Amino acid sequence: MPDVRYKRILLKMGGEALAGQGGFGIDPQRADEVAQVVKDVHDLGVQVALVMGAGNLWRGSMGTQAGMERSTADHIGMVATVMNALALKDVLERAGVVTRVQTAFEMRTIAEPYIRLRAIRHMDKGRVVIIAGGTGNPYFTTDSAGALRAMELNAEVLIKATKVDAIYDDDPYKNPDAKPFERISYLEFLSMRLRVLDTTAVSLCMENNMPIVVLDFWQKDSVKRLVMGESVGTTISA
Ligand code: UDP
Repeated sequence: MPDVRYKRILLKMGGEALAGQGGFGIDPQRADEVAQVVKDVHDLGVQVALVMGAGNLWRGSMGTQAGMERSTADHIGMVATVMNALALKDVLERAGVVTRVQTAFEMRTIAEPYIRLRAIRHMDKGRVVIIAGGTGNPYFTTDSAGALRAMELNAEVLIKATKVDAIYDDDPYKNPDAKPFERISYLEFLSMRLRVLDTTAVSLCMENNMPIVVLDFWQKDSVKRLVMGESVGTTISA
């Protein structure tokens, strides 16, 4: 195994990573690309747990804005993460990576229930674990699920896969002089009220000293380079 900085990572993937044109649905080709990135990191011998979002299919807010009861709208979002997880499992398996899907609520005919020690055992055996269903509770997001599972599974870092290469001190699309942060504290992040990661997730990581790295998932080898020790994206830590 090459020298790596992290031996176990929790990768939080927004559902949009799987979306095709228009940011909606599951595009099998995009899923293939995501799987390749995960495989490259896994091939280094790194243990990988993935928490899937569902923004490409459904967010609770889509329902509540139309008058739907919040918990029901959120339940739909949680179920949608399972669809993404199954799509990703399929491409990973076809790429030769043994993968298990675990869900926060039982769907035993299609996935295992989330069991912490079992998830760890899968990783010890070289399997990628995709954890779906968020936290299993409404009023949360999959960022919070990512933070929670990172802690439970003793991951060394929570990696938030995004489309931006770093956190900036201003909106880089509006201000060409905006500067990227290499490092930022949890409290600085929280005080900036940025939307790249939800505040519940960051607070949870702060209380448990879990470092977070926000990076551009689509930048070539970004996750791999991070794992191998390069400074990539922005690290949020104490
Ligand atoms: N969700 C939830 N509880 C959780 C995780 C997710 O209720 O623990 C619901 C919530 O409605 C959310 C949707 O699932 O909008 C999809 O998750 P998220 O928005 O985090 O997906 P992402 O933006 O990461 O693709």
